[in-house]
Amino acid sequence: MRIVVTDLVGHPGETRAVDTAVPASAFGDDPWGPTVDAVRDPIGLDLHLDSVVEGILVRGTIHYDVQMPCGRCLVPQDEQVDANVTELFLDPAKREEDEEDDPGYELIDDATALDLSTLARDALVIDLPLRVLCREDCQGLCPTCGGDRNLEDCGHRDEPLRDPRWSALADLELPRE
Ligand SMILES: [Zn+2]
Ligand SMILES: [Zn+2]
Repeated sequence: MRIVVTDLVGHPGETRAVDTAVPASAFGDDPWGPTVDAVRDPIGLDLHLDSVVEGILVRGTIHYDVQMPCGRCLVPQDEQVDANVTELFLDPAKREEDEEDDPGYELIDDATALDLSTLARDALVIDLPLRVLCREDCQGLCPTCGGDRNLEDCGHRDEPLRDPRWSALADLELPRE
């Protein structure tokens, strides 16, 4: 998601609003994070690009509609995530020699553009809910047979979970005195 900023770079104090909605594919084909099944189109951008001496400050909100599995039964759930961002895209020419190795975000193409792809991915992962549930009392999957306990009662509910490492012992015929 590349944005040309030639009108802003070198004009500290200038600002431009970016208020648009774009397909998720505009941010590249990389995965959106380990717990995200899908990011739905469109992704909403409600941002301000502020020209500062060091580069371009990007601030505002990115809106996502994502699909994540229920933490108990794994059925996909639709979640909305609004991520607030404030990130400086540094003009590489303004970077101090002795600054640490990680440059963070930088302007590209001779400081004429910035790419929001990595920022959009990082912001989503930071703001994802730690766990989603399809409903508070989701019964989850049966640890014995893997059945969805919300859909059917497989009858395993009250059995203690056997450790499979010991299951061979259950079949042993011990000699009786
Ligand atoms: Zn569930
Ligand atoms: Zn079961």
